[in-house]
Amino acid sequence: MSEAERSLNFIEHIIEDDLKNGYSKDVLRFRFPPEPNGYLHIGHASSICLNFGLGLRYGAPVNLRFDDTNPAKEEQEFVDAIKKDVKWLGFKWDTERYASDYFQQLYDWALLLIKNEKAYVDSQSSDEMASQKGTPTEPGKESPYRNRTVEENLELFIAMKEGKFEEGKHVLRAKVDMTSSNMLMRDPIIYRVLHKAHHRTNTDWCIFPMYDWTHGESDYIEQVSHSLCTLEFGMHRELYDWFLDQVVDQNKLRPKQREFARRNLSHTVVSKRKLARLVEEGVVKSWDDPRMPTISGLRRRGYSPESIRNFADTIGIAKRDNLIDVSLLEFQVRDHLNKVAPRVMGVLDPLKVVITNYPEGEEEWLDAENNPGDENAGSRKVPLSREIYIEKEDFREEANKKFFRMKLGKEVRLKNGYILMAESCTKDAEGNVIEVQCTYDPKSKSGSGTEESLRKVKGTLHWVSIKHALEAEIRLYDRLFTDESPDTHKDKDFMEFVNPDSLETIKGYLEPSMKNLEIGAQVQFQRLGYFCVDPDSTAEKLVFNKTVGLRDSWAKIEQKA
Ligand code: ATP
Ligand code: MG
Repeated sequence: MSEAERSLNFIEHIIEDDLKNGYSKDVLRFRFPPEPNGYLHIGHASSICLNFGLGLRYGAPVNLRFDDTNPAKEEQEFVDAIKKDVKWLGFKWDTERYASDYFQQLYDWALLLIKNEKAYVDSQSSDEMASQKGTPTEPGKESPYRNRTVEENLELFIAMKEGKFEEGKHVLRAKVDMTSSNMLMRDPIIYRVLHKAHHRTNTDWCIFPMYDWTHGESDYIEQVSHSLCTLEFGMHRELYDWFLDQVVDQNKLRPKQREFARRNLSHTVVSKRKLARLVEEGVVKSWDDPRMPTISGLRRRGYSPESIRNFADTIGIAKRDNLIDVSLLEFQVRDHLNKVAPRVMGVLDPLKVVITNYPEGEEEWLDAENNPGDENAGSRKVPLSREIYIEKEDFREEANKKFFRMKLGKEVRLKNGYILMAESCTKDAEGNVIEVQCTYDPKSKSGSGTEESLRKVKGTLHWVSIKHALEAEIRLYDRLFTDESPDTHKDKDFMEFVNPDSLETIKGYLEPSMKNLEIGAQVQFQRLGYFCVDPDSTAEKLVFNKTVGLRDSWAKIEQKA
């Protein structure tokens, strides 16, 4: 096996086999088929990367198809958000399609089914129908309406379409097999009456086709060669094929449904319905809350499209469902931002340091490299003055040899600046250090090349000049759920595992170069992590989101626990 072949996933193997067995490359066509009932999430990213990835690999078109057959749950807002997210991820669809564009064709085919005695109008209540469904081991019972005449069925179905009946009075069912071992084949409903306005067809239709009936026929209309869906549709494949059998023209391509495993991410839920509850019940502020595993939430959190694509490519696709640890996603964003994010200084838990031998009222602007790993990233100036902030945790009065930060009587370097010596500190009534007094060595400026500047000092601290510091609101995030897989507990609702401390808002102090960053701009606060400018940020009030720390701190906590 060649290297290229070895890297194929099982779906690509299926396609390669089809190509060997007579499919021409020109007939390959894929689709990504979201229902516009919510925002896309990280699980969808896997499906998007799979389908669009196949399109790129085989030079085949990929449609974006909205599976919009349930007016009760679907909205234009979701259509717009889905398009934005797919584009942002970096993919281009061939054509934008809607299942609702096929309502007429689906209706015409339903008439054909009735004429061929493959469908009938059932006038029982949903409870009655459920009681006849049988069990996996017992066959179902036939409806008393199963043998209505073609004429009667046509008349009733047309009347359904014309709005003559209220919801639930009649449904159209496919006449398949009430004894099938596959319960889905026991005369599934294919149309129901819904007197609700649809976001695209408005009130043109009051009967709506069901998912199974719609999906395969839409694939056929679009001539999709491989219709890829998640494993829970495995049992639906038989029905998918049965529906195609009723309409397929032998001269046209017959779509194939194949299944792959759903991707679940630890410490969150990936289901639009469940994510909708988080929004509706106010656990998060919106679909794009940076704690959400939605594409829009990740974007607002500071994730780049590259990091999400790399994540999807790394986990690949599988034949069995499994849980992917969120730290893998975080690794990808950290890896990407490490390459691209400019370095800046910000202090989030400030301790005042006074440089006693620094002339009062003076300041200087020091050279600071934007990204030591990237020659083209350039440099900026950061101001130093007599009073600065450092992080509280970077100072101790006394500490052992392993503490390479600021301690009394020892030297430490200011990033891009001078070497300081901590001389004394001031405490409040409770004994907390509230100020440190230092002296600096004026000859030790970093990069100046002097003997003093080359002196070996173990610790380097980030800092900001108090006089020049910009105040900013900093939003720190933790896992949204305390449990690794909150929605897999039999007797507990996933909402019971919501982490009450998933958001902490603090005040931070930033170097002045951060004043004019654009919304979404990503930076590394040196020694602290990656942050980005939140859309709530204004010139008067800066707001930053923490994307991810420099290291995986959660893993450490879990190890200790
Ligand atoms: P949800 O329960 O989140 O609404 P869904 O499957 O109903 O999920 P759709 O909009 O119907 O959402 O999904 C569009 C496509 O994305 C489908 O092909 C679906 O199988 C796929 N998909 C959805 N969730 C995942 C996931 N977690 N992992 C991989 N693919 C997914
Ligand atoms: Mg779905």
